[in-house]
Amino acid sequence: MKTYVVNGRLIDGTGSPARELQWLEMEGGRISAISAGSDAPPLPPQAQVVLDAAGKTVMPGLTDAHCHISYGVARGIEEQDLFGSAEYRAIRGVYHARKVLQAGVTSFSDPGGSWYVGVAVRDAIRAGLFPGPRMSSAARYLSTHTALTDYFPSWVGAPRSGVGAYTESASAMLAEVRDQVKNGVDFIKIAASGESAIMTPGGGSVPAFRAEELKLIVDEAHRLGRRVTAHARAGQSVADCIEAGIDWIQHADFMDAACADRLAEANIPCCPALTFVANVAEWGHLVGCSQGRIDRFRRDLDLAVKNLDYAWRNGVTMMCGTDSGFAVTPYGQWHARELELFVSLLGMSPLQAITCATRNAAFTVDPNNLGSLEPGKFADLLVIDGDPLQDIRVLQDPARIAAVLLDGEPVDLTPMPEPHRWPWERSMAISERELYRTTVGAAAKEAAH
Ligand SMILES: [Zn+2]
Repeated sequence: MKTYVVNGRLIDGTGSPARELQWLEMEGGRISAISAGSDAPPLPPQAQVVLDAAGKTVMPGLTDAHCHISYGVARGIEEQDLFGSAEYRAIRGVYHARKVLQAGVTSFSDPGGSWYVGVAVRDAIRAGLFPGPRMSSAARYLSTHTALTDYFPSWVGAPRSGVGAYTESASAMLAEVRDQVKNGVDFIKIAASGESAIMTPGGGSVPAFRAEELKLIVDEAHRLGRRVTAHARAGQSVADCIEAGIDWIQHADFMDAACADRLAEANIPCCPALTFVANVAEWGHLVGCSQGRIDRFRRDLDLAVKNLDYAWRNGVTMMCGTDSGFAVTPYGQWHARELELFVSLLGMSPLQAITCATRNAAFTVDPNNLGSLEPGKFADLLVIDGDPLQDIRVLQDPARIAAVLLDGEPVDLTPMPEPHRWPWERSMAISERELYRTTVGAAAKEAAH
């Protein structure tokens, strides 16, 4: 049966200017025809109208190119890597995925996490067990002991529940790629650079793999029909990823102009994921981030803006992703903030930012079927009460989400409560602070007042 969305302002996600929507026809979960512009054909008689979007904006559902569904609103690395079982994480993941969908995000890419939680959540949604966005998923990040994911002291070792898979030899790299493909990943994630604990003399993070190792991983994944992305912040690790033929890159915030030029030339898209960094820099003080972390993230953000501003103005394709899944980026809350940051920090127009969160970001999930409103693509729509071209921030306001359609069907937008947090999700900590005799004395004094 053919159904119709009528009227409103159409932003189709291809980067074309907004047009006046006459009608958008859907059949079998896909868009079958669109009539837009002032001299467009009129609505067929007796058309089954499911939504009148007069005064609203009709656009593709957003794609978040960087959302970790297994992290579970983690407040720290122990919570991300150690506590909470695989089973609990998977069940929690499907709950959170629905929150993502209700925020107007009809698809997202999970660039790595613990166990095969992302794959399981993807399959549970695809099987119709739970409502949620379309997903593509990686599994544990292929890592070395100088990579981002090696958070714990060497004498503790790498926990099996952690997000890193340690591949210190060529044969281990091949084995891990094959194992992940066997277990159903859509793409491979590499932790190609370290974190600031191991800095290069220039101040960037250290490249975690040799160039030929990256090439081996990418070649093996491609041979098995899977794509590859990498966390790469340092310039050298970005350059090595380009040489290796990586499909898209995450962050790239410490790359210089020459490296950005090579990224543009190789036509490799980039997902900076600025939201995570900006949330800590701007609001970390509200949620107990240390001043040291806030200061460092501010410096990182300034540097990222300088480098990425050059990159997109010189031809690098940018994709919106948020690093949602941490306590500073809970599911369903900040997915559209990346568009605001692209506008306010990188100087994009709202329309350019929307293209980054639709057509460009859809590259990480299913570029042939998603990312724009065109005949043949999935009828995944976001209808906003407002004009994001006037104010890009309206996309972040739940009250402005008039409708979300997935496969042409309206999504239930009934608000979901934040789930209860269990003490064992966090750590085995006994207290938050120290109980000195003076602590008790001060409390007694306070009570007496
Ligand atoms: Zn991430």
